Amino acid sequence: MTSESCGYQECAEALLHGEFGAYPSKGARYAVSLTSTELHIQRLVPKPEDDQRTVVPLTDMVGCHTLRNRTSADAAAYFSVYAYPLKKKKVGMSSSRTRQRTVHTFRVDRAAEYAQNKAVAEKWAMAVKCLVLGVPITSATEIVPSLLPRPRRLLLLVNPFGGRGHALQYCHTHILPMITEADISYNLIQTERQNHARELVQGINLTEWDGIVIISGDGLLYEVINGLMERLDWEQAIKMPVGILPCGSGNALAGALNFNGGFEQAMGSELLLNCTLLLCRSIITPMDLVSVTTCSGARSFSFLSVAWGFVSDVDIESEKYRHMGSARFTMGTMVRLASLRTYRGRLSYLPVVESHLHRSISRSITLAANGSLSSFQRTPLHRTISDMGLCEERNILLKRGSALLDTNELPSFEASPSPSSPNALQASSFSFDTVSDNLPPQNHVLHGTGDAPPLRHVRGPPDDLLVPLNQSVPKNWVTVEGDFILMLALYQSHLGADLFTAPSACFNDGLIHLFFVKAGITRAALIRLFLAMEKGTHFQLDCPHLHHFPVRAFRLEPLTRKGTLTVDGERVEYGPIQAQMHGSLSNLLTGAHRGRSSAF
Ligand code: ADP
Ligand code: MG
Repeated sequence: MTSESCGYQECAEALLHGEFGAYPSKGARYAVSLTSTELHIQRLVPKPEDDQRTVVPLTDMVGCHTLRNRTSADAAAYFSVYAYPLKKKKVGMSSSRTRQRTVHTFRVDRAAEYAQNKAVAEKWAMAVKCLVLGVPITSATEIVPSLLPRPRRLLLLVNPFGGRGHALQYCHTHILPMITEADISYNLIQTERQNHARELVQGINLTEWDGIVIISGDGLLYEVINGLMERLDWEQAIKMPVGILPCGSGNALAGALNFNGGFEQAMGSELLLNCTLLLCRSIITPMDLVSVTTCSGARSFSFLSVAWGFVSDVDIESEKYRHMGSARFTMGTMVRLASLRTYRGRLSYLPVVESHLHRSISRSITLAANGSLSSFQRTPLHRTISDMGLCEERNILLKRGSALLDTNELPSFEASPSPSSPNALQASSFSFDTVSDNLPPQNHVLHGTGDAPPLRHVRGPPDDLLVPLNQSVPKNWVTVEGDFILMLALYQSHLGADLFTAPSACFNDGLIHLFFVKAGITRAALIRLFLAMEKGTHFQLDCPHLHHFPVRAFRLEPLTRKGTLTVDGERVEYGPIQAQMHGSLSNLLTGAHRGRSSAF
Protein backbone atom coordinates (compact mmCIF):
# COMPACT_ATOMS: atom_id res chain seq x y z
CA MET A 1 0.00 0.00 0.00
CA THR A 2 1.21 3.50 -0.63
CA SER A 3 0.60 6.81 1.03
CA GLU A 4 -0.76 8.46 -2.10
CA SER A 5 -4.39 8.18 -1.18
CA CYS A 6 -3.81 9.62 2.26
CA GLY A 7 -4.49 13.23 2.95
CA TYR A 8 -2.33 13.57 6.06
CA GLN A 9 1.12 14.95 6.33
CA GLU A 10 2.17 12.04 8.53
CA CYS A 11 1.40 9.59 5.77
CA ALA A 12 4.59 10.62 4.00
CA GLU A 13 6.21 8.01 6.21
CA ALA A 14 3.32 5.55 6.25
CA LEU A 15 4.32 1.92 6.15
CA LEU A 16 0.74 0.75 5.61
CA HIS A 17 -2.45 2.55 4.83
CA GLY A 18 -5.98 1.21 4.58
CA GLU A 19 -9.64 1.97 4.92
CA PHE A 20 -11.57 -0.17 7.32
CA GLY A 21 -14.72 -0.49 9.30
CA ALA A 22 -14.55 -0.87 13.05
CA TYR A 23 -15.78 -3.41 15.59
CA PRO A 24 -18.28 -3.04 17.07
CA SER A 25 -19.58 -1.50 13.88
CA LYS A 26 -21.71 1.62 14.04
CA GLY A 27 -21.48 2.28 10.34
CA ALA A 28 -18.34 4.35 10.67
CA ARG A 29 -15.39 4.00 8.27
CA TYR A 30 -11.81 4.87 9.14
CA ALA A 31 -8.62 5.73 7.27
CA VAL A 32 -5.83 3.96 9.15
CA SER A 33 -2.10 4.57 8.68
CA LEU A 34 0.79 2.87 10.36
CA THR A 35 4.08 4.78 10.56
CA SER A 36 7.25 3.62 12.26
CA THR A 37 6.21 5.46 15.43
CA GLU A 38 2.41 5.74 15.44
CA LEU A 39 -0.93 4.39 14.35
CA HIS A 40 -3.18 7.15 12.93
CA ILE A 41 -6.91 6.59 12.91
CA GLN A 42 -9.14 9.14 11.14
CA ARG A 43 -12.89 8.76 10.93
CA LEU A 44 -14.10 9.22 7.34
CA VAL A 45 -17.78 8.41 7.47
CA PRO A 46 -20.22 9.75 8.55
CA LYS A 47 -18.15 12.95 8.86
CA PRO A 48 -14.38 13.50 8.82
CA GLU A 49 -13.70 15.81 11.72
CA ASP A 50 -10.37 16.75 13.18
CA ASP A 51 -11.42 15.74 16.65
CA GLN A 52 -12.30 12.28 15.39
CA ARG A 53 -8.66 11.53 14.82
CA THR A 54 -6.78 9.23 17.17
CA VAL A 55 -3.03 8.75 17.33
CA VAL A 56 -1.71 5.67 19.13
CA PRO A 57 2.04 5.96 19.84
CA LEU A 58 4.05 2.82 19.21
CA THR A 59 5.48 3.15 22.73
CA ASP A 60 2.00 2.41 24.14
CA MET A 61 1.36 -0.65 21.94
CA VAL A 62 2.06 -4.23 22.99
CA GLY A 63 0.78 -6.28 20.07
CA CYS A 64 -1.82 -7.05 17.45
CA HIS A 65 -3.99 -10.12 16.83
CA THR A 66 -6.21 -11.18 13.94
CA LEU A 67 -9.75 -12.42 14.56
CA ARG A 68 -12.63 -13.94 12.70
CA ASN A 69 -16.35 -13.58 13.22
CA ARG A 70 -17.81 -16.91 14.41
CA THR A 71 -20.56 -16.73 11.81
CA SER A 72 -19.06 -18.09 8.60
CA ALA A 73 -21.37 -15.83 6.59
CA ASP A 74 -19.12 -12.89 7.45
CA ALA A 75 -16.36 -12.59 4.83
CA ALA A 76 -14.68 -9.82 6.81
CA ALA A 77 -11.47 -10.35 8.80
CA TYR A 78 -10.57 -8.33 11.88
CA PHE A 79 -7.40 -7.17 13.59
CA SER A 80 -7.07 -5.72 17.06
CA VAL A 81 -4.27 -3.39 18.15
CA TYR A 82 -3.61 -3.52 21.91
CA ALA A 83 -2.35 -0.36 23.56
CA TYR A 84 -1.97 0.97 27.11
CA PRO A 85 -2.01 4.78 26.91
CA LEU A 86 -1.35 6.86 29.98
CA LYS A 87 -4.46 8.62 31.22
CA LYS A 88 -4.57 11.44 33.73
CA LYS A 89 -7.19 11.11 36.42
CA LYS A 90 -8.38 13.90 38.68
CA VAL A 91 -8.56 12.69 42.26
CA GLY A 92 -9.89 15.47 44.47
CA MET A 93 -7.41 18.35 44.31
CA SER A 94 -4.63 16.35 42.73
CA SER A 95 -4.33 14.32 39.56
CA SER A 96 -2.91 10.85 39.13
CA ARG A 97 -1.83 8.89 36.11
CA THR A 98 -2.73 5.38 35.12
CA ARG A 99 -2.37 3.24 32.03
CA GLN A 100 -5.64 2.12 30.55
CA ARG A 101 -5.99 -0.85 28.22
CA THR A 102 -7.37 0.26 24.86
CA VAL A 103 -8.24 -2.08 21.99
CA HIS A 104 -8.74 -0.74 18.48
CA THR A 105 -10.44 -3.43 16.35
CA PHE A 106 -10.73 -2.92 12.61
CA ARG A 107 -12.91 -4.75 10.13
CA VAL A 108 -11.21 -5.61 6.83
CA ASP A 109 -14.03 -6.09 4.38
CA ARG A 110 -13.02 -4.74 0.98
CA ALA A 111 -12.74 -8.18 -0.72
CA ALA A 112 -15.65 -10.54 -1.22
CA GLU A 113 -13.53 -13.51 -0.10
CA TYR A 114 -12.58 -14.07 3.53
CA ALA A 115 -9.11 -15.34 2.52
CA GLN A 116 -8.19 -12.02 0.92
CA ASN A 117 -9.46 -9.97 3.85
CA LYS A 118 -7.61 -12.26 6.23
CA ALA A 119 -4.34 -11.73 4.32
CA VAL A 120 -4.71 -7.96 4.77
CA ALA A 121 -5.51 -8.28 8.48
CA GLU A 122 -2.50 -10.57 8.96
CA LYS A 123 -0.23 -8.14 7.16
CA TRP A 124 -1.28 -5.36 9.55
CA ALA A 125 -0.82 -7.60 12.58
CA MET A 126 2.67 -8.63 11.44
CA ALA A 127 3.68 -5.02 10.74
CA VAL A 128 2.57 -3.88 14.21
CA LYS A 129 4.42 -6.79 15.83
CA CYS A 130 7.58 -5.99 13.85
CA LEU A 131 7.47 -2.40 15.09
CA VAL A 132 6.84 -3.42 18.71
CA LEU A 133 9.75 -5.87 18.59
CA GLY A 134 12.07 -3.45 16.82
CA VAL A 135 12.28 -5.47 13.57
CA PRO A 136 13.17 -2.83 10.95
CA ILE A 137 10.57 -2.40 8.21
CA THR A 138 10.00 0.26 5.57
CA SER A 139 7.15 0.87 3.14
CA ALA A 140 9.14 -1.21 0.64
CA THR A 141 9.43 -4.24 2.96
CA GLU A 142 7.45 -7.26 1.98
CA ILE A 143 5.57 -8.09 5.19
CA VAL A 144 5.89 -11.86 5.57
CA PRO A 145 5.81 -14.14 8.66
CA SER A 146 9.52 -14.91 8.43
CA LEU A 147 10.30 -11.30 9.44
CA LEU A 148 9.14 -12.06 12.96
CA PRO A 149 11.21 -13.92 15.55
CA ARG A 150 9.49 -16.86 17.20
CA PRO A 151 7.46 -15.85 20.25
CA ARG A 152 9.58 -15.54 23.37
CA ARG A 153 9.31 -17.99 26.25
CA LEU A 154 9.67 -16.49 29.69
CA LEU A 155 9.94 -18.16 33.06
CA LEU A 156 7.95 -16.01 35.48
CA LEU A 157 8.77 -16.39 39.18
CA VAL A 158 6.28 -14.75 41.47
CA ASN A 159 6.72 -14.20 45.20
CA PRO A 160 3.16 -14.18 46.57
CA PHE A 161 4.42 -12.44 49.71
CA GLY A 162 6.36 -9.65 47.96
CA GLY A 163 5.35 -6.10 48.92
CA ARG A 164 1.87 -6.09 50.38
CA GLY A 165 1.23 -9.60 49.09
CA HIS A 166 -0.67 -8.68 45.93
CA ALA A 167 1.79 -10.02 43.36
CA LEU A 168 -0.46 -12.90 42.26
CA GLN A 169 -3.40 -10.58 41.81
CA TYR A 170 -1.36 -8.23 39.67
CA CYS A 171 -0.25 -11.18 37.56
CA HIS A 172 -3.84 -11.99 36.87
CA THR A 173 -5.13 -8.48 36.31
CA HIS A 174 -2.18 -6.62 34.81
CA ILE A 175 0.72 -8.77 33.69
CA LEU A 176 -0.58 -11.95 32.06
CA PRO A 177 -3.21 -10.25 29.86
CA MET A 178 -0.61 -7.80 28.57
CA ILE A 179 2.15 -10.31 27.81
CA THR A 180 -0.37 -12.63 26.15
CA GLU A 181 -1.31 -9.77 23.83
CA ALA A 182 2.40 -9.42 23.11
CA ASP A 183 2.56 -13.14 22.11
CA ILE A 184 4.89 -14.04 24.96
CA SER A 185 4.72 -17.65 26.11
CA TYR A 186 5.26 -18.14 29.79
CA ASN A 187 5.38 -20.56 32.62
CA LEU A 188 4.48 -19.03 35.94
CA ILE A 189 5.83 -20.48 39.17
CA GLN A 190 4.98 -19.24 42.65
CA THR A 191 7.86 -19.31 45.10
CA GLU A 192 7.00 -21.26 48.23
CA ARG A 193 9.77 -20.09 50.52
CA GLN A 194 12.93 -18.07 50.70
CA ASN A 195 15.64 -19.46 48.38
CA HIS A 196 13.10 -21.44 46.36
CA ALA A 197 13.78 -19.29 43.27
CA ARG A 198 17.50 -19.62 43.86
CA GLU A 199 17.31 -23.43 43.89
CA LEU A 200 14.89 -23.52 41.00
CA VAL A 201 17.14 -21.64 38.57
CA GLN A 202 20.02 -23.93 39.44
CA GLY A 203 18.15 -26.82 37.87
CA ILE A 204 16.46 -25.31 34.81
CA ASN A 205 17.37 -26.15 31.24
CA LEU A 206 18.67 -22.84 29.91
CA THR A 207 17.79 -23.64 26.29
CA GLU A 208 14.08 -23.74 27.15
CA TRP A 209 13.88 -20.07 28.08
CA ASP A 210 14.49 -16.67 26.57
CA GLY A 211 14.44 -14.98 29.94
CA ILE A 212 13.66 -15.27 33.65
CA VAL A 213 11.37 -12.57 34.96
CA ILE A 214 10.74 -12.13 38.64
CA ILE A 215 7.50 -10.66 39.89
CA SER A 216 8.35 -9.32 43.34
CA GLY A 217 10.85 -6.85 44.77
CA ASP A 218 14.60 -6.65 44.27
CA GLY A 219 15.24 -9.45 46.80
CA LEU A 220 13.91 -12.19 44.53
CA LEU A 221 16.14 -11.10 41.64
CA TYR A 222 19.12 -11.27 44.00
CA GLU A 223 18.18 -14.92 44.61
CA VAL A 224 17.89 -15.66 40.89
CA ILE A 225 21.22 -14.05 40.00
CA ASN A 226 22.99 -15.98 42.74
CA GLY A 227 21.23 -19.20 41.78
CA LEU A 228 22.56 -18.77 38.24
CA MET A 229 26.05 -18.05 39.58
CA GLU A 230 25.98 -21.25 41.67
CA ARG A 231 25.62 -23.39 38.55
CA LEU A 232 28.60 -25.26 37.08
CA ASP A 233 27.82 -23.55 33.78
CA TRP A 234 27.62 -20.10 35.46
CA GLU A 235 29.40 -18.40 32.56
CA GLN A 236 26.57 -19.29 30.22
CA ALA A 237 23.82 -19.23 32.82
CA ILE A 238 24.46 -15.65 33.93
CA LYS A 239 23.92 -14.52 30.32
CA MET A 240 20.28 -15.64 30.56
CA PRO A 241 18.34 -12.36 30.29
CA VAL A 242 16.65 -11.47 33.57
CA GLY A 243 13.79 -9.05 34.09
CA ILE A 244 11.72 -7.62 36.89
CA LEU A 245 8.07 -6.66 37.21
CA PRO A 246 7.74 -4.60 40.39
CA CYS A 247 5.46 -6.16 42.98
CA GLY A 248 7.66 -5.77 46.04
CA SER A 249 8.17 -2.99 48.50
CA GLY A 250 11.73 -2.35 47.31
CA ASN A 251 11.55 -1.78 43.55
CA ALA A 252 14.82 0.01 42.82
CA LEU A 253 15.70 -1.84 39.62
CA ALA A 254 12.19 -1.23 38.29
CA GLY A 255 12.72 2.48 39.00
CA ALA A 256 15.92 2.35 36.94
CA LEU A 257 14.18 0.46 34.10
CA ASN A 258 11.32 2.96 34.12
CA PHE A 259 13.78 5.85 33.88
CA ASN A 260 15.80 4.12 31.16
CA GLY A 261 12.55 3.52 29.26
CA GLY A 262 11.97 7.28 29.13
CA PHE A 263 8.94 7.29 31.43
CA GLU A 264 8.22 9.77 34.18
CA GLN A 265 8.99 8.56 37.69
CA ALA A 266 6.19 6.23 38.73
CA MET A 267 5.03 4.01 41.55
CA GLY A 268 2.45 1.30 42.09
CA SER A 269 0.42 0.05 39.15
CA GLU A 270 1.75 2.76 36.83
CA LEU A 271 5.31 1.54 37.43
CA LEU A 272 4.21 -2.07 36.99
CA LEU A 273 2.45 -1.37 33.68
CA ASN A 274 5.39 0.71 32.40
CA CYS A 275 7.74 -2.17 33.17
CA THR A 276 5.38 -4.72 31.60
CA LEU A 277 5.20 -2.53 28.45
CA LEU A 278 8.99 -2.55 28.34
CA LEU A 279 9.06 -6.31 28.79
CA CYS A 280 6.89 -6.68 25.68
CA ARG A 281 9.79 -5.23 23.65
CA SER A 282 12.65 -7.67 23.27
CA ILE A 283 15.57 -5.34 23.97
CA ILE A 284 18.30 -6.62 26.26
CA THR A 285 21.09 -4.55 27.83
CA PRO A 286 24.22 -5.92 29.50
CA MET A 287 24.15 -5.28 33.26
CA ASP A 288 27.07 -4.92 35.65
CA LEU A 289 27.28 -7.17 38.69
CA VAL A 290 29.35 -6.63 41.80
CA SER A 291 30.87 -9.54 43.69
CA VAL A 292 30.55 -9.08 47.45
CA THR A 293 32.68 -10.96 49.97
CA THR A 294 31.69 -10.99 53.63
CA CYS A 295 33.79 -11.73 56.69
CA SER A 296 33.21 -15.50 56.57
CA GLY A 297 34.73 -15.49 53.08
CA ALA A 298 31.44 -16.20 51.37
CA ARG A 299 30.79 -14.44 48.09
CA SER A 300 27.61 -13.37 46.34
CA PHE A 301 26.75 -11.33 43.28
CA SER A 302 24.84 -8.11 43.64
CA PHE A 303 23.07 -6.02 40.98
CA LEU A 304 21.96 -3.11 43.16
CA SER A 305 23.68 -2.05 46.35
CA VAL A 306 25.66 -2.66 49.51
CA ALA A 307 24.43 -0.53 52.40
CA TRP A 308 25.52 0.16 55.98
CA GLY A 309 24.09 2.52 58.58
CA PHE A 310 21.03 4.61 57.92
CA VAL A 311 19.97 2.95 54.64
CA SER A 312 20.37 -0.67 55.77
CA ASP A 313 18.81 0.09 59.16
CA VAL A 314 15.73 1.54 57.48
CA ASP A 315 15.54 -1.39 55.09
CA ILE A 316 15.67 -4.05 57.79
CA GLU A 317 13.83 -2.26 60.59
CA SER A 318 10.96 -1.27 58.28
CA GLU A 319 10.20 -4.95 57.65
CA LYS A 320 7.55 -4.66 60.38
CA TYR A 321 5.69 -2.06 58.30
CA ARG A 322 5.56 -4.39 55.26
CA HIS A 323 1.76 -4.07 55.11
CA MET A 324 2.31 -0.44 54.03
CA GLY A 325 3.99 -1.44 50.77
CA SER A 326 6.74 0.93 49.64
CA ALA A 327 5.59 3.49 52.24
CA ARG A 328 7.29 1.20 54.78
CA PHE A 329 10.59 2.92 53.91
CA THR A 330 9.12 6.36 54.62
CA MET A 331 7.95 5.15 57.99
CA GLY A 332 11.30 3.54 58.66
CA THR A 333 13.09 6.73 57.61
CA MET A 334 11.05 8.82 60.05
CA VAL A 335 11.71 6.43 62.92
CA ARG A 336 15.44 6.22 62.21
CA LEU A 337 15.70 10.00 61.82
CA ALA A 338 14.15 10.50 65.20
CA SER A 339 16.97 8.53 66.83
CA LEU A 340 19.78 8.98 64.38
CA ARG A 341 22.74 6.67 64.88
CA THR A 342 26.33 7.13 63.92
CA TYR A 343 28.65 4.28 63.08
CA ARG A 344 32.37 4.21 63.30
CA GLY A 345 34.20 2.52 60.49
CA ARG A 346 36.97 2.46 57.96
CA LEU A 347 36.08 2.70 54.31
CA SER A 348 38.63 1.99 51.60
CA TYR A 349 38.06 2.24 47.88
CA LEU A 350 39.73 2.02 44.52
CA PRO A 351 38.78 5.25 42.79
CA VAL A 352 38.14 5.36 39.08
CA VAL A 353 40.98 7.29 37.54
CA GLU A 354 39.68 10.34 35.68
CA SER A 355 41.22 9.25 32.39
CA HIS A 356 39.39 5.93 32.62
CA LEU A 357 36.02 7.60 32.68
CA HIS A 358 34.51 7.29 29.30
CA ARG A 359 31.10 8.01 27.96
CA SER A 360 29.44 4.70 28.41
CA ILE A 361 27.45 3.71 25.42
CA SER A 362 24.87 1.22 26.42
CA ARG A 363 25.39 -1.73 24.14
CA SER A 364 22.05 -3.34 23.64
CA ILE A 365 21.28 -6.48 21.79
CA THR A 366 18.01 -7.58 20.40
CA LEU A 367 17.04 -11.10 21.15
CA ALA A 368 17.47 -13.13 18.02
CA ALA A 369 15.08 -16.00 17.95
CA ASN A 370 13.72 -18.31 15.36
CA GLY A 371 11.98 -21.61 15.14
CA SER A 372 8.44 -22.50 15.87
CA LEU A 373 6.15 -21.69 18.73
CA SER A 374 6.00 -24.50 21.21
CA SER A 375 3.12 -24.80 23.55
CA PHE A 376 3.75 -23.94 27.15
CA GLN A 377 1.81 -24.75 30.22
CA ARG A 378 0.21 -21.83 31.90
CA THR A 379 -0.59 -21.94 35.55
CA PRO A 380 -4.17 -20.85 36.03
CA LEU A 381 -4.72 -18.07 38.51
CA HIS A 382 -7.91 -17.29 40.32
CA ARG A 383 -7.41 -14.02 42.11
CA THR A 384 -8.71 -10.50 41.90
CA ILE A 385 -7.11 -7.10 42.27
CA SER A 386 -6.94 -4.44 44.96
CA ASP A 387 -5.26 -1.05 45.09
CA MET A 388 -1.56 -0.19 44.77
CA GLY A 389 0.63 2.83 45.13
CA LEU A 390 1.48 5.13 47.97
CA CYS A 391 3.92 7.53 46.36
CA GLU A 392 2.31 10.71 47.65
CA GLU A 393 2.21 9.41 51.19
CA ARG A 394 5.97 9.27 51.43
CA ASN A 395 6.32 12.84 50.30
CA ILE A 396 3.80 14.17 52.74
CA LEU A 397 5.34 12.30 55.66
CA LEU A 398 8.85 13.41 54.79
CA LYS A 399 7.81 17.01 54.24
CA ARG A 400 6.04 17.04 57.57
CA GLY A 401 9.13 15.59 59.16
CA SER A 402 11.29 18.20 57.48
CA ALA A 403 9.18 21.03 58.85
CA LEU A 404 9.33 19.56 62.34
CA LEU A 405 13.04 19.01 62.27
CA ASP A 406 14.14 22.14 60.50
CA THR A 407 15.29 23.84 63.65
CA ASN A 408 16.28 20.67 65.39
CA GLU A 409 20.04 20.40 65.06
CA LEU A 410 21.74 17.13 65.83
CA PRO A 411 24.21 17.26 68.67
CA SER A 412 27.66 16.75 67.21
CA PHE A 413 28.79 13.25 67.98
CA GLU A 414 31.95 12.51 69.82
CA ALA A 415 34.02 9.99 68.02
CA SER A 416 35.44 7.38 70.30
CA PRO A 417 39.01 6.53 69.40
CA SER A 418 39.65 2.98 68.35
CA PRO A 419 42.05 1.65 70.97
CA SER A 420 44.35 -0.29 68.74
CA SER A 421 44.18 1.91 65.70
CA PRO A 422 47.38 3.71 64.77
CA ASN A 423 45.12 6.51 63.68
CA ALA A 424 43.31 6.74 66.96
CA LEU A 425 44.63 10.18 67.70
CA GLN A 426 43.53 11.54 64.41
CA ALA A 427 40.21 9.82 64.80
CA SER A 428 39.64 11.12 68.30
CA SER A 429 40.14 14.65 67.10
CA PHE A 430 37.09 13.91 64.98
CA SER A 431 38.88 13.84 61.73
CA PHE A 432 37.10 12.50 58.72
CA ASP A 433 40.00 12.81 56.45
CA THR A 434 41.61 10.45 54.10
CA VAL A 435 43.57 8.48 56.62
CA SER A 436 46.17 6.88 54.44
CA ASP A 437 46.57 5.17 51.16
CA ASN A 438 47.61 1.93 52.73
CA LEU A 439 46.66 1.05 56.25
CA PRO A 440 48.13 -1.96 57.99
CA PRO A 441 45.59 -4.69 58.74
CA GLN A 442 43.61 -3.90 61.86
CA ASN A 443 43.15 -6.63 64.41
CA HIS A 444 40.35 -4.86 66.24
CA VAL A 445 38.06 -5.03 63.26
CA LEU A 446 34.86 -6.97 63.80
CA HIS A 447 34.79 -10.54 62.64
CA GLY A 448 31.23 -11.21 61.78
CA THR A 449 28.37 -10.67 64.16
CA GLY A 450 24.63 -10.51 63.86
CA ASP A 451 22.05 -13.12 63.11
CA ALA A 452 22.09 -13.01 59.31
CA PRO A 453 23.27 -16.28 57.78
CA PRO A 454 26.58 -16.24 55.93
CA LEU A 455 26.27 -15.93 52.17
CA ARG A 456 26.56 -19.12 50.18
CA HIS A 457 29.52 -19.66 47.93
CA VAL A 458 29.00 -18.83 44.34
CA ARG A 459 31.29 -19.39 41.39
CA GLY A 460 32.09 -16.60 38.98
CA PRO A 461 35.10 -14.67 37.73
CA PRO A 462 38.03 -14.05 40.10
CA ASP A 463 38.14 -10.78 42.05
CA ASP A 464 41.38 -9.49 40.58
CA LEU A 465 41.10 -6.10 42.35
CA LEU A 466 40.70 -7.52 45.86
CA VAL A 467 43.10 -9.01 48.39
CA PRO A 468 41.86 -11.19 51.28
CA LEU A 469 40.05 -9.31 54.03
CA ASN A 470 42.83 -10.05 56.54
CA GLN A 471 45.39 -8.24 54.39
CA SER A 472 45.66 -4.49 53.97
CA VAL A 473 44.14 -2.96 50.88
CA PRO A 474 46.45 -2.35 47.89
CA LYS A 475 48.55 0.81 47.76
CA ASN A 476 46.50 2.59 45.15
CA TRP A 477 43.36 2.52 47.32
CA VAL A 478 42.11 5.45 49.41
CA THR A 479 41.00 4.96 53.02
CA VAL A 480 38.80 7.17 55.19
CA GLU A 481 38.07 6.48 58.83
CA GLY A 482 35.58 8.19 61.09
CA ASP A 483 31.96 8.34 62.11
CA PHE A 484 29.40 7.73 59.43
CA ILE A 485 25.66 8.13 59.16
CA LEU A 486 25.58 5.87 56.16
CA MET A 487 27.64 4.17 53.51
CA LEU A 488 25.99 3.17 50.28
CA ALA A 489 27.52 1.50 47.25
CA LEU A 490 24.99 1.74 44.43
CA TYR A 491 25.28 0.61 40.80
CA GLN A 492 21.81 1.48 39.53
CA SER A 493 20.35 4.95 39.09
CA HIS A 494 17.65 4.27 41.69
CA LEU A 495 17.79 3.15 45.32
CA GLY A 496 13.99 2.85 45.36
CA ALA A 497 11.34 3.46 42.69
CA ASP A 498 11.20 7.10 43.80
CA LEU A 499 14.79 7.53 44.97
CA PHE A 500 16.88 8.81 42.07
CA THR A 501 20.10 8.46 44.03
CA ALA A 502 22.73 8.07 41.29
CA PRO A 503 21.28 9.94 38.29
CA SER A 504 24.31 9.32 36.10
CA ALA A 505 24.43 5.57 36.71
CA CYS A 506 23.48 3.20 33.94
CA PHE A 507 23.21 -0.55 33.69
CA ASN A 508 26.66 -1.14 32.21
CA ASP A 509 28.84 1.84 33.11
CA GLY A 510 31.21 -0.39 35.06
CA LEU A 511 30.98 1.93 38.07
CA ILE A 512 30.17 1.49 41.72
CA HIS A 513 28.75 4.80 42.93
CA LEU A 514 30.10 5.02 46.45
CA PHE A 515 28.25 7.41 48.74
CA PHE A 516 28.83 8.19 52.36
CA VAL A 517 27.37 10.72 54.75
CA LYS A 518 29.59 11.81 57.59
CA ALA A 519 28.43 12.26 61.15
CA GLY A 520 27.74 15.86 62.12
CA ILE A 521 25.01 16.39 59.56
CA THR A 522 21.83 17.85 61.03
CA ARG A 523 18.63 15.88 60.86
CA ALA A 524 17.13 18.66 58.77
CA ALA A 525 19.99 18.47 56.27
CA LEU A 526 19.67 14.69 56.08
CA ILE A 527 15.95 14.86 55.44
CA ARG A 528 16.54 17.52 52.78
CA LEU A 529 18.98 15.16 51.08
CA PHE A 530 16.41 12.36 50.96
CA LEU A 531 13.65 14.68 49.75
CA ALA A 532 15.87 16.07 46.98
CA MET A 533 16.80 12.51 46.04
CA GLU A 534 13.31 11.99 44.73
CA LYS A 535 14.14 14.31 41.84
CA GLY A 536 17.84 13.47 41.80
CA THR A 537 18.79 17.02 42.85
CA HIS A 538 20.54 16.12 46.12
CA PHE A 539 24.01 16.97 44.78
CA GLN A 540 22.82 20.51 44.09
CA LEU A 541 22.37 21.01 47.84
CA ASP A 542 26.17 21.03 48.17
CA CYS A 543 25.91 19.23 51.47
CA PRO A 544 29.45 19.08 52.89
CA HIS A 545 28.66 15.80 54.67
CA LEU A 546 27.65 13.96 51.50
CA HIS A 547 30.46 12.35 49.52
CA HIS A 548 30.21 10.52 46.23
CA PHE A 549 32.98 8.73 44.34
CA PRO A 550 32.88 6.46 41.34
CA VAL A 551 34.94 3.40 42.30
CA ARG A 552 35.76 -0.06 41.00
CA ALA A 553 36.10 -1.76 44.39
CA PHE A 554 35.70 -0.99 48.06
CA ARG A 555 36.15 -2.45 51.52
CA LEU A 556 34.18 -1.47 54.61
CA GLU A 557 35.43 -2.36 58.07
CA PRO A 558 32.75 -1.48 60.63
CA LEU A 559 34.28 -0.54 63.95
CA THR A 560 30.96 -0.21 65.76
CA ARG A 561 30.03 -3.60 67.16
CA LYS A 562 26.36 -3.65 66.28
CA GLY A 563 24.81 -2.75 63.00
CA THR A 564 23.29 -4.04 59.81
CA LEU A 565 24.71 -4.64 56.38
CA THR A 566 22.54 -5.29 53.38
CA VAL A 567 23.29 -6.52 49.88
CA ASP A 568 20.52 -5.66 47.39
CA GLY A 569 18.29 -4.95 50.39
CA GLU A 570 18.87 -8.41 51.90
CA ARG A 571 20.57 -8.66 55.26
CA VAL A 572 24.02 -10.27 55.30
CA GLU A 573 26.43 -11.10 58.13
CA TYR A 574 27.81 -8.04 59.89
CA GLY A 575 31.54 -7.42 59.78
CA PRO A 576 34.19 -6.47 57.24
CA ILE A 577 32.90 -6.66 53.71
CA GLN A 578 34.48 -5.95 50.36
CA ALA A 579 33.30 -5.86 46.78
CA GLN A 580 34.41 -5.36 43.22
CA MET A 581 32.80 -4.52 39.92
CA HIS A 582 32.38 -7.12 37.15
CA GLY A 583 31.21 -5.07 34.19
CA SER A 584 28.41 -6.34 31.91
CA LEU A 585 28.45 -9.81 33.49
CA SER A 586 24.68 -10.32 33.16
CA ASN A 587 21.89 -9.38 30.75
CA LEU A 588 18.82 -7.36 31.66
CA LEU A 589 15.49 -7.20 29.82
CA THR A 590 15.31 -3.41 29.53
CA GLY A 591 12.97 -2.97 26.57
CA ALA A 592 14.67 0.29 25.62
CA HIS A 593 17.92 1.43 24.07
CA ARG A 594 18.97 4.45 25.95
CA GLY A 595 22.70 4.85 26.32
CA ARG A 596 23.01 7.57 28.86
CA SER A 597 26.36 9.12 29.53
CA SER A 598 28.16 8.42 32.73
CA ALA A 599 29.07 12.00 33.54
CA PHE A 600 28.86 12.85 37.23
P1 ADP B 1 10.08 -7.01 48.97
O1 ADP B 1 10.60 -5.86 48.14
O2 ADP B 1 8.62 -6.84 49.23
O3 ADP B 1 10.88 -7.23 50.18
P2 ADP B 1 11.45 -9.20 47.74
O4 ADP B 1 11.36 -9.74 46.37
O5 ADP B 1 12.66 -8.41 48.08
O6 ADP B 1 10.17 -8.32 48.05
O7 ADP B 1 11.30 -10.45 48.69
C1 ADP B 1 11.51 -10.41 50.05
C2 ADP B 1 12.08 -11.71 50.54
O8 ADP B 1 11.13 -12.75 50.40
C3 ADP B 1 13.31 -12.16 49.79
O9 ADP B 1 14.31 -12.41 50.75
C4 ADP B 1 12.90 -13.45 49.14
O10 ADP B 1 13.95 -14.37 49.12
C5 ADP B 1 11.81 -13.95 50.06
N1 ADP B 1 10.84 -14.87 49.44
C6 ADP B 1 10.64 -15.18 48.16
N2 ADP B 1 9.59 -16.02 48.01
C7 ADP B 1 9.12 -16.26 49.26
C8 ADP B 1 8.03 -17.04 49.78
N3 ADP B 1 7.24 -17.73 48.99
N4 ADP B 1 7.84 -17.00 51.10
C9 ADP B 1 8.62 -16.27 51.91
N5 ADP B 1 9.65 -15.52 51.49
C10 ADP B 1 9.91 -15.51 50.18
MG1 MG C 1 25.82 0.86 36.77
